[in-house]
This record gives sequence, structure tokens and C-alpha cells, in this order.
Amino acid sequence: MKYPTVFLDRDGTINEEAGYLNHPSRLKIIPEAGRAIKKLNDAGIITVIVTNQSGVARGYFSETVLIETHKRLKQELRRKYSARIDGIYYCPHHPAAIFDEYKKDCECRKPKPGMVNAAMSDLPIDPSFSYMIGDRYVDMEFGRQFRFKTVMVLTGYGLGEYTYQRSQWQFMPDYICENMEEAVDWVFKDLSIRNRGMKKLKTFDELKKIIPKLKRQGKRVVFANGCFDLLHGGHISYLEDARSKGDVLVLGLNSDSSIKKIKSEKRPVCPEEQRVEILASLECVNFILLFDDNTCDGLLRELRPDVHAKGTDYTRETVPERQTAIELGIETFIAGAQKENATKDIISLILERNSSPL
Ligand SMILES: [Mg+2]
Repeated sequence: MKYPTVFLDRDGTINEEAGYLNHPSRLKIIPEAGRAIKKLNDAGIITVIVTNQSGVARGYFSETVLIETHKRLKQELRRKYSARIDGIYYCPHHPAAIFDEYKKDCECRKPKPGMVNAAMSDLPIDPSFSYMIGDRYVDMEFGRQFRFKTVMVLTGYGLGEYTYQRSQWQFMPDYICENMEEAVDWVFKDLSIRNRGMKKLKTFDELKKIIPKLKRQGKRVVFANGCFDLLHGGHISYLEDARSKGDVLVLGLNSDSSIKKIKSEKRPVCPEEQRVEILASLECVNFILLFDDNTCDGLLRELRPDVHAKGTDYTRETVPERQTAIELGIETFIAGAQKENATKDIISLILERNSSPL
């Protein structure tokens, strides 16, 4: 069993930024951070600190002082907030170190990945449900390489970096907020959206059991499919109409790799995990299946829905899976309004409008 995890920067995120923290007594926990860590503990989310501490390499404080500071951090969290940290990883190195033992271009200094890799081998972390919270852009770069969602807090260096440096950022964090308590509240909301997606997202083998069961209950099963890269009105019309032809709508969603093959290397714009989240929030969609094939002949053959719904870019005669549907007695239905705003048209429009001054 793997668990959602929140990776946390230390200075300026959990405790007040104090420059090089060279004595445990200088550690002051930000109250919102203490309360937020307790909330994460109560929700069964793993908490891991990942912190660059080049003060050791620079000779500002010893590694023993750093370890003592972390002991104090854990004690204070427990005593004042009944909160717990599950793992602390630090990088004491720096290329300009005054001590040889710490002088290296290591793999653990953020944004390099070493600390997360170490945590992943020690703890039951689910990387696809993990987050990085920090007060610096480097924390966001660090989290993003693992495809974690990133949250920037405006405590510590956060406000200054956000105000004066964000024009140079390569990407924006997924969420920006005042402090860790707001950050963790957002993590909970985001997890609940993603869980809804996960509940509707089924594997091929699961659907092979679910669909016959539904049919035995007298339910009419409709199968629709597509890429749904940038969701637009035409998609909604298609899905609503498809759903109206039966009791349950199973949506075959092209995986990222299949979209690259069918459309172009530059697509999709929206990765599959986000497309799943968005589509799962639609009431008319009951189940989602990610698939890799160019057509759904194989899926129709194995899943045997009652209806196969296609969009208005096809006619009954041009549906690629027509022969399979006829052979299996599956009704083909052309669903939705006439398509006007295909994703490629939306992308062209955005490019056109942004290549010249508005
Ligand atoms: Mg920091």
C-alpha cells in the first residue's frame, strides 16, 4: 500500500526564515505550519522534510547542530501541535564548501532529485499523489521534476520571490497561498478531485466484469471515445447525447502516447491524468478507461456495450469501427451537435491571437 505524500521545505515554510539557523533555540515554528502538519497526519498523508543546509558545508554550523535542530523541530511539533514528521532529508553539501567532506556537486541539493529518491526508497510514498510545498521557486522546480503538484507559500522568501522574480519563472506553481495551512487545505481539495477521477477510472479488466454485471441488471451501456484534449462545448454535447442513449456511459479516453501517434508529437496539451480529472467531474460520464490503440475495435469486441457513440465528425458509414459494431450487433449512434470548435481550431486561434498584439 502506498500513500499520498507532502514534501515540505523547512526554512520559511515550516519555521520562520532566520538566515543560517545556527542554534536549535533559534528555531520558531510558524503556527499555521504546525497546525497544517497535524491535519496531514490526521488524514494519513506522509510528511517529509527536504531541506538544503549548505550552512554545514560553509562552516556556519556543524552537522551535529543541524541534527539537534531537527530533534527540536520534531519535539516542538509534537508538544505544541501534536504533529509528526515522517522523514527528514537534508543536503549538507555545497561546491564552495570549506570542508572537503562536504565539498561536492552532489545529487541531493535541491533542485537535484536525491532527497526524494532517498525518501521513496525508505517510505511507502505514492509519487502520483504527492505534493511539494515550499517558499522558493527552486522548491517548485524540485517538485515538478517528479510531476508532483507544487504549492508556493508566501511565508519566508515566498512573498519576495513571488513579487519580484515571478516574471522570470519558467512555470507557475499549481497553487500560491499565504501559508502552509492554506496550502494543506488546497492539497485536500485537490486530492478529493483526483480521488473522484480515480473512482471513475477503471482498468480494462475491471470493466470486463462491470459491464456484463450492468447488462444483467437490465442497464443499457453506451461506449464513447476520444481524446478530449481541451474540453469544449462540442465535447459536452457529444457526451450528454451519448449518455442519453442508455443508462451508463463508459468513456474510452486516448492515452497520451496514443494521442502522440494519432495527432502529433506536440499533443496532447492536457496530460491524461488531468483529462481524467476533468472528465470524471461530468455527471454524464460513469466510467473512464485509458486506452492506447488507434481505434476501439478491440475494446468493442471485449467490452460489448449496447451502443457505440461517435461524434459528428463521422457519419454512420464512416465510423472506423462500423464493421465490428455490425458484426457484434452493437448500435452505432452519431451523438452531439455539429462540431465547430475542435481542439486544433482552439489551439490555432490562441496561437494566432497571441502572435500579434491584442
Ligand atoms: Mg525555504
